[in-house]
Amino acid sequence: MPEGSHRFSVGSINCTVLSDGYVSYPASWFFCNADPATLNRALESHRLPADDVLSPYTCLLIETGRHVILIDTGAGDTSRTSGAIVARLEIAGIRPKDVDTVVITHAHPDHIGGAIDLCGRSAFPNARYVLSEIEWEFWTGARTDLSSLRVPDPAKEALQSMARRCLGVLRHQLEPIQRETELVPGVIAIPAPGHTPGHLAVAIESDGKSLLNLGDAAVHPLHLEEPGWQNGFDLVPEQALTTRRSLMQRAIADGMRIMAFHFPFPSVGRAEASNGGWHWTPGW
Ligand SMILES: [Zn+2]
Repeated sequence: MPEGSHRFSVGSINCTVLSDGYVSYPASWFFCNADPATLNRALESHRLPADDVLSPYTCLLIETGRHVILIDTGAGDTSRTSGAIVARLEIAGIRPKDVDTVVITHAHPDHIGGAIDLCGRSAFPNARYVLSEIEWEFWTGARTDLSSLRVPDPAKEALQSMARRCLGVLRHQLEPIQRETELVPGVIAIPAPGHTPGHLAVAIESDGKSLLNLGDAAVHPLHLEEPGWQNGFDLVPEQALTTRRSLMQRAIADGMRIMAFHFPFPSVGRAEASNGGWHWTPGW
């Protein structure tokens, strides 16, 4: 496979992680309640710089034989270092019109931005776009309150304007869900609120093998090692931590591999309980 793609299978379901690109964020946004000295030591032990965190954007293509599903769409034209998803899909042999289901884990720009093309139209014309009904209501309602986010105001404004723009374009293709839902056989959307009100995780299960895509319930492996560390983009921080813990408990209990949209490419790996948190080892 070309650089930026990593193919593996979950039982009889073919999966390909596809890099949409990357953006770097201040470490203080990603680990907003971490003690600075502890955070510095943790970053140093992972040989990471102290100021900025490089954050990959990783979408997941799922091919079941009958269905072509894309989990998250990347950032579209919102930054110069991302927006590669359609090109990556084409290298993997998938045209936009072949995709029948797009899951939007949540309506932040790095997940929904690639759902519309450069002309402002739906990028996947034949797809149903699955997202949580609560997510739709939150971003399109009269009062979208982002005051609890611990990031600068311009970042909050960007979240809101992009969500409204994309959801407006996609409204005729949206399929809102209200609870845990099997979207196609073996692909299950799971409510995982906290990061946003309608944030979804996605499980893939086939022939006794399984993968849990955390979405943004953890945005860096350090969020698994230190389960109390919060992400400044979490709307309801305590709920986000509870959700992260329950997803990880489910994954450990069921022997699932773990993927997360912002983890180091190829973003899939194994997790095991360690020191009150979880240690993540990349690879399939
Ligand atoms: Zn994200």
